[in-house]
Amino acid sequence: MFALIDCNNFYVSCERLFNPGLRGRPVVVLSNNDGCFISRSEEAKAIGLGMGESAFKCRELLQQHQVAVYSANFSLYGDLSARVMRTLADFAPDIEIYSIDECFLDLSGFDRFDLADYARQMRRTVEKHTGIPVSIGIGSTKTLAKAASRMAKKNSELGGVALLRSDAEVSDALSGMDVEHVWGIGARYGALLHRHGIHTALDFAGAPAPWVRRNLHITGARVQEELNGRSCLSLELVRPPKQSICTSRSFGTPVTLKENLQHAVAHFASKCAFKLRREGSRASLLTVFAATSPFAPKEKRYWGTETLSLPSATNDTLLLLEAAKLVLERIYRPGYEYKKAGVILSGIGSVTEPQQTTLSLFDTDPHPEKQGRSANLMEALDALNSRYGAGTLRVASDSPSGWKQRQEELSPAYTTRWCDIIEVTT
Ligand SMILES: [Mg+2]
Repeated sequence: MFALIDCNNFYVSCERLFNPGLRGRPVVVLSNNDGCFISRSEEAKAIGLGMGESAFKCRELLQQHQVAVYSANFSLYGDLSARVMRTLADFAPDIEIYSIDECFLDLSGFDRFDLADYARQMRRTVEKHTGIPVSIGIGSTKTLAKAASRMAKKNSELGGVALLRSDAEVSDALSGMDVEHVWGIGARYGALLHRHGIHTALDFAGAPAPWVRRNLHITGARVQEELNGRSCLSLELVRPPKQSICTSRSFGTPVTLKENLQHAVAHFASKCAFKLRREGSRASLLTVFAATSPFAPKEKRYWGTETLSLPSATNDTLLLLEAAKLVLERIYRPGYEYKKAGVILSGIGSVTEPQQTTLSLFDTDPHPEKQGRSANLMEALDALNSRYGAGTLRVASDSPSGWKQRQEELSPAYTTRWCDIIEVTT
């Protein structure tokens, strides 16, 4: 059996944790640059604020219902997520962290346990250790566990836990679930299935397998098998390294000066380099892009992008910044109002892969001690920034001025910055 544990309205729950006055009130969290809703409390959903909808378009509704609005505070959410996952990891030998607010546990070997009871114990423990409410679904495959967790979330009378064990329980649950909500189906395949009279998850489970394989390919066939209780997906204990890493942002106010664009691109390159080191990887290709608004009049529209092949794979911030600067020089055109820019690293391989660390014939500095020095410098950089906050130590060209993203309603970093810790006075 597998369990899927999903934090309820995770970002909103994190905001509520340190601000109990938000309980029972509609609360939303906005995406980068305060653009659209990425997390909504139940009260906010009831008002009709849709996932991904633009906050600007809904401003009257927000005002009318006195909705509490927050900018995304990822240092807070990331830290609380790690606490939730650490707590859950104690409940089973194997855990797959599927996203910031979801994980699977492998419950094979737990046959002697009352699994619903065990799940309720997990919920209580997570609530006690972290204050975050979760929903738990249990089933004989990952797809069924996912379906069960959806049930647990939608039906408050279940107390946050749904267990699908008997065939009757499974068919009952699947008959009440629209097919597009099945994990791995989605809106596009959902529309196709509806056109063929397959409306519920149960219809899909019973559809002729050859037809599913022909029309929904191997992925769809696997989903169908899983719905029928045959497990095809095991836990992914180690995630494959990312194929590419991208940091990009839309600017709150357009950027025109090359110097400001350079600062922004340097910042993106630094962030990418950090992500790369955290994964234990190196990249051999670097892409920079800078673009105006796609809605600008035609003669004021520009999309510049170019990729540089690096002399050897690296994760050194200094080298990547140098490369990013070079590419920006080539794509920058004066006279445009830039609305968006970004850096993408690809050609990614592990630090331990031998071909990735081979020096090129034309490498100017083939001394191994120099490579060691770069690694030490980067280690010191990451250690200081993780202890004192991102951006404490940075390369001079990576300056925060002039293009900072809009975060007007940012809550404090309650759990990761000393000066933001709540003081209790008696
Ligand atoms: Mg969730």
